[in-house]
Amino acid sequence: MADEHGGELDTVMQESRLFPPPAEFSAGARIKSLEEYQQLWDRAAADPPKFWADIAQEELHWFEPFTEALRWNEPVAEWFVGGKTNACYNCVDKHVAEGRGDRVAIVWEGEPGDERTLTYAELQTEVSKCANALKSLGIGLGDVVSIYMPMTPELAIAMLACARIGAVHSVIFAGFSGEAIADRNNDAGAKLVITADGGWRRGKVLPLKETVDEALAKSPTVEHCLVLKRAGDAPNMQEGRDVWWHDVVDTASDECPAAPLDSETPLFILYTSGSTGKPKGIKHTSAGYTLYAKKTFEWVFDHRDDDVFWCTADCGWITGHSYVVYGPLAAGAKVLMYEGAPDHPAGDRFWDIVERRKVTVFYTAPTAIRAFIKWGDELVDKHDLSSLRILGTVGEGINPEAWMWYHKKVGGERCPIVDTWWQTETGGIMMSPLPGAIPTKPGSCTKPLPGVVPAIVDDHGQPVHPGHGGWLTITQPWPGMLRGIWGDMQRYQDVYWSRIPGKYLAGDNARCDQDGYYWIMGRIDDVLNVSGHRLSTIEIESALVSHPAVAEAAAVGRPHDLKGEAVAVFITLKDVDPSEELREELKHHVRKEIGALAQPEDIRFTGSLPKTRSGKIMRRLLKDIAAGREAVGDTTTLEDYTVLTRLRSGKE
Ligand code: ATP
Ligand code: MG
Repeated sequence: MADEHGGELDTVMQESRLFPPPAEFSAGARIKSLEEYQQLWDRAAADPPKFWADIAQEELHWFEPFTEALRWNEPVAEWFVGGKTNACYNCVDKHVAEGRGDRVAIVWEGEPGDERTLTYAELQTEVSKCANALKSLGIGLGDVVSIYMPMTPELAIAMLACARIGAVHSVIFAGFSGEAIADRNNDAGAKLVITADGGWRRGKVLPLKETVDEALAKSPTVEHCLVLKRAGDAPNMQEGRDVWWHDVVDTASDECPAAPLDSETPLFILYTSGSTGKPKGIKHTSAGYTLYAKKTFEWVFDHRDDDVFWCTADCGWITGHSYVVYGPLAAGAKVLMYEGAPDHPAGDRFWDIVERRKVTVFYTAPTAIRAFIKWGDELVDKHDLSSLRILGTVGEGINPEAWMWYHKKVGGERCPIVDTWWQTETGGIMMSPLPGAIPTKPGSCTKPLPGVVPAIVDDHGQPVHPGHGGWLTITQPWPGMLRGIWGDMQRYQDVYWSRIPGKYLAGDNARCDQDGYYWIMGRIDDVLNVSGHRLSTIEIESALVSHPAVAEAAAVGRPHDLKGEAVAVFITLKDVDPSEELREELKHHVRKEIGALAQPEDIRFTGSLPKTRSGKIMRRLLKDIAAGREAVGDTTTLEDYTVLTRLRSGKE
């Protein structure tokens, strides 16, 4: 890794646009100004454990109070030691106990248009029944339950029911193969799988139970399978092993008090997206995670009682865990949940939902935003989106031009955009604008949240020169941090805590500008080294996306005799045909925007880019293709295998 730059990155992108929060927004916000944010951040950074302990005491329900905020034995963190709490209690019962049981918790819309609304009191009943059913299937404290379900209320209910009795859920995105489910069942030692007969996607039923059956043939630890009837299919039900939800949950007693659990009781395992390699089974625990999800939700989305909050992520990803289920429910919010595809029955389904349901806060991923841009403005313009007050993005860096589109077209230039940087490992948002306090810059996740103390270092752990990029680390433990990789503490130590002693290594590059704003520059492993200059993927990609013909771009380095590496880019176009002229024009465009150094040597037009199921571009596979190598890394989380075949054959 070491070279003459010591791991530092050059920056070639200049972005000077600044968008202060509208004054009337700030006036009504939880945190109203940059000064107020700075004071809060300073206070937190002075003593993070004390800062978090105060919030935990006040905002979580404790069956027994904790006696110590943090016991830190690097890399093992124990937060709120000695306390007993329950994540499910905090998300459900607490609201009922405090007289808010009639408030709506979940508004759900199925893809075919069916709908269901659950108040907090109703949620308590459903979750209690489900928890009793789990017990009747032999599930108790510490048992692992895999959940492979469509985005239905029952998915959230199943997660919360596990939390209620101290079982550990492992949600597996309901698009993965039987093989991927079996891998996860075996890695975690799952005892039960919860699934559905099917789920709706683009007007078709995905046969979920059928896929689970394939997995169960190779999952020796699984004893039972609990099946929700969602799509009306008649799947194979193996006598003695498989049971219907309506037989065991609907008939169960609704008396099941939440178990008082030690703060560090494992809450869930969740496998990462697999952008950089084989997915890691990230472990999160009860008290710290719940607190972190709640607090970051309230800060970043400036939560108000009358909000209708919609995070479009699937619960198969961390974003769905923290901002569909635990964060908003712990805050007592009204959460919108949608089952299906954004383009069913048409490409304006999301905007139709926003309009009909009067969504106020909308949180989605850059991959979706780029798709909306490609689908055309008319689909957005058709709808009244005036209920929106905050827009969010997560998952990848957002190219400044995509940010501008989101700001203008969706946000009507009035909604602050929160570009939230975080990871499965961090449990919740780490860096993001606070919408009433921090002016935004397109493409920057702006500043760390209170209690989060980042540092950008070179590969010797030394601070980089001001303005340069380097490795993003976090210097203080925080409550939402992962507690390990399931069953592999050595890998946990190696991946996050070994290369830079004393700091959490995130695996991303970042730079901090003169205003203290952070810019994520891409993955450590994806850096391009052109003639001794280390360049980030996102800057080159953003330069390309700023050209009107380009929908998406992925930049990788490919071996080059003279330069070390040359820039190779893969591009999907908007409604334009590829041509030699366009290729030259794009090279010229990059040179003009960010300089000759970053000019691509190769430009390949393609119909689609390889992405993870969570919608992230898998640059490591493109790197192999650009170098003419077989892709050798893990491809189990690839969304569409045919993309690779097509890219290799050059027939696009
Ligand atoms: P794996 O760890 O298996 O390679 P992954 O890192 O893609 O998969 P996630 O935990 O889902 O799995 O994604 C976290 C990563 O997503 C971050 O490390 C970062 O690279 C990227 N990311 C998330 N949000 C942002 C953002 N707002 N800006 C830039 N990058 C982001
Ligand atoms: Mg990762």
